[in-house]
Amino acid sequence: MGLHLARAFDCFDYVVSGEGEIALPKLMNHLNKRRFESARIPGVYSRRDLAYTGPAESVRSLDDLPHVSFRQYAENHGNDDIASSLGLRIPFETSRGCWWGEKHHCIFCGLNGSQMTFRRKSNERIRLELANLSLTFPDAEFAATDNILDLDILRSGALDSFSGRSIYFEVKANLKRSDVAELRSRRIMRVQLGIESLSTVCLKALDKGTSGLKNVEALKWCKEYGISVDWNLLIEIPKTERVDFLAQVGLMPALHHLSPPHSLCSLRIDRFSPLFDQPERFGLRNLVPSPAYEFVFDLPPDHLKGIAYFFTADEVPDPAESTYPVLQKALEIWQDEHESSFLFSVDLQGITWVFDSRAAGVVKMIRVEGLERDVLDASQKTINISRCLDLAQQEKVNEAIDSLLENKFLVREGDHIVSVVIPAGTHYPGADMLDALMVHMAEHARTQIREKRNE
Ligand code: SF4
Repeated sequence: MGLHLARAFDCFDYVVSGEGEIALPKLMNHLNKRRFESARIPGVYSRRDLAYTGPAESVRSLDDLPHVSFRQYAENHGNDDIASSLGLRIPFETSRGCWWGEKHHCIFCGLNGSQMTFRRKSNERIRLELANLSLTFPDAEFAATDNILDLDILRSGALDSFSGRSIYFEVKANLKRSDVAELRSRRIMRVQLGIESLSTVCLKALDKGTSGLKNVEALKWCKEYGISVDWNLLIEIPKTERVDFLAQVGLMPALHHLSPPHSLCSLRIDRFSPLFDQPERFGLRNLVPSPAYEFVFDLPPDHLKGIAYFFTADEVPDPAESTYPVLQKALEIWQDEHESSFLFSVDLQGITWVFDSRAAGVVKMIRVEGLERDVLDASQKTINISRCLDLAQQEKVNEAIDSLLENKFLVREGDHIVSVVIPAGTHYPGADMLDALMVHMAEHARTQIREKRNE
């Protein structure tokens, strides 16, 4: 892309393409010696030469990078209207590349350009950087620029020195409950979870390496620990069928108390992604830059193709197309219902009481005991139904599962189930929700008493 930018726009003397930390200082040294002819530095393109110089040299050890300081920016712009309306957000970096993408490149992902190799800063360096930045900006939200959180960074305590308000991280969704507890204890209060779908077939087609129910699990634990989740639901996925999307519509009413997706997103063809690099593998033909580029840049097609990041292809018949309006409707209901929906359990003397306000806010208080309670406990994590057979005979287990499914306390995909009931704890349901519940229950009790008196 860098070479094409240099070719397409003569206002650029030089373009540094890819990681700039090595290429840019080399270019600066070159210019400092008042040598303005082509530098021929890998990754640097000059309009005097326009020759390909190869990929920019990438940083091997992130610890060698200089420490960033935003003090001057904050002094100059901290009180600007726009800056204060957005809130000060401090970016920081613990790693580059993607440890998952090194093994399985998610088919839509072009985030890492040609530098997928995962590299991370040492724990000491991360601690030092976060300690300094969070002391300087105690009220700011911090946002990691990492494409994916390295769980070792989380588990090893490298983020312990953070003393600011909160951190935002992009995280792979197959998390253990203990990982989510760690996120909370490190003040990671908002995450972009790589959920993308609630269907295992769709996730396999995307090469995400997780299952629909594992994604539900991650949403549940984030809710339990009071962590906000950003995510989108993907459609138009090659090699999927109607049933894979209708199954997600079927799951959604049970999930109204969990964070809904922001939107339904069509799979996009981004440069550097497998969809872009191997279109024939996915039945895609005639890739062209997204139409928006033509409105922005008055350039011939070959230049547009060289600078574009987003692409489209010839339309291919999509067997699942007719399900998307239904999915959209179900998603909107989820978004509308989410604020007033809760589902949590409290254990009292061997009985589990489940408080449920999903589905139009009617609060139900349901007693779960015996085998149903055992199944609910066993399925806090996704399990194969056969695991429940230790609890009782198959017929009784099936009855218990059917009853829990009917109450939407479990969700099921194939032979696997997971509970969506959240045990009440420190962060969930939270004081506001409990207050609302008490008001609702008092009102309900008053109505019942009045009705009884009138009988
Ligand atoms: S989508 Fe996320 S997990 Fe997948 S390859 Fe890209 S950065 Fe890695």
